Amino acid sequence: MNLHTHTTYCDGTASALDFVKTAKQLQWRSIGFSAHAPLPFPCDWAITADNLEKYTAEITNLALLNQSDIKILCGFEIDYLIGLGFPALRYPEVQKSEFLISSIHFVNNPKAENPNTQYLEIDGTYTQFLLALKSYGFDLKKLLQAFLEATQQMISEPVGTLKIIGHIDKIILNAAKASEFTALENWFYDELFQIVQTGSYSYDFIEINTRAMYKKALSNPYPKLEFISKLHQTKIPLIINSDAHHPSELNGSYSNLYQLLSNCGLESIVKNHVKF
Ligand SMILES: [Zn+2]
Ligand SMILES: [Zn+2]
Repeated sequence: MNLHTHTTYCDGTASALDFVKTAKQLQWRSIGFSAHAPLPFPCDWAITADNLEKYTAEITNLALLNQSDIKILCGFEIDYLIGLGFPALRYPEVQKSEFLISSIHFVNNPKAENPNTQYLEIDGTYTQFLLALKSYGFDLKKLLQAFLEATQQMISEPVGTLKIIGHIDKIILNAAKASEFTALENWFYDELFQIVQTGSYSYDFIEINTRAMYKKALSNPYPKLEFISKLHQTKIPLIINSDAHHPSELNGSYSNLYQLLSNCGLESIVKNHVKF
């Protein structure tokens, strides 16, 4: 099972039909589609607003055609932007979707004068990340604080449907490359844990995302295993996704993750996942 997938409607490289075929070969009971919803500024990895209707119709049609074999869900991955909330919720197709993965890919720019530079991408290339860091005076703690602030607001704001928090610590992909991160790591995860705890009734699941394991050969999913263990101990519902951009990634690093979770005594997460 996997609710986090991207097709050619956004930055994926295969059609929804190809994903469904692979999911059926894997004998999955369900699969969800989560195109990056449009942003209020140009973005080359998101679906365009004029394609929303076509996307929803295509997924709904696939769901009908395959209903005896597999449950197909239509959703979106939506961005939370400080000051704007979830801008994608203004589109009826997004509002009506069966689930939403809410993620932070941008922090606000404290130095912005021009609205086009209001938001800074933090999970793109390291160069993009450094540009964001520059706007925070090269103070990594301040940038992480902005990310935590956005995460806190994102967690507490309802979306009107099933809400999954996507790759909750993804900023570390780039942040961990900065030498100052080591000294900030414990502080960052303690803050993140507080946020998740206090907002625990305003989301349905926190995602365990394997993308960095099969794409970047990292040894941990998002969030890192130690943090997953803490979330599990406090009974926070978790869901495993691969953030697939191609059908070959649908179960990317799942078996590796299952093994890691079992080694940490977290078999029940695996058992729950397989039941979906
Ligand atoms: Zn994402
Ligand atoms: Zn994604």
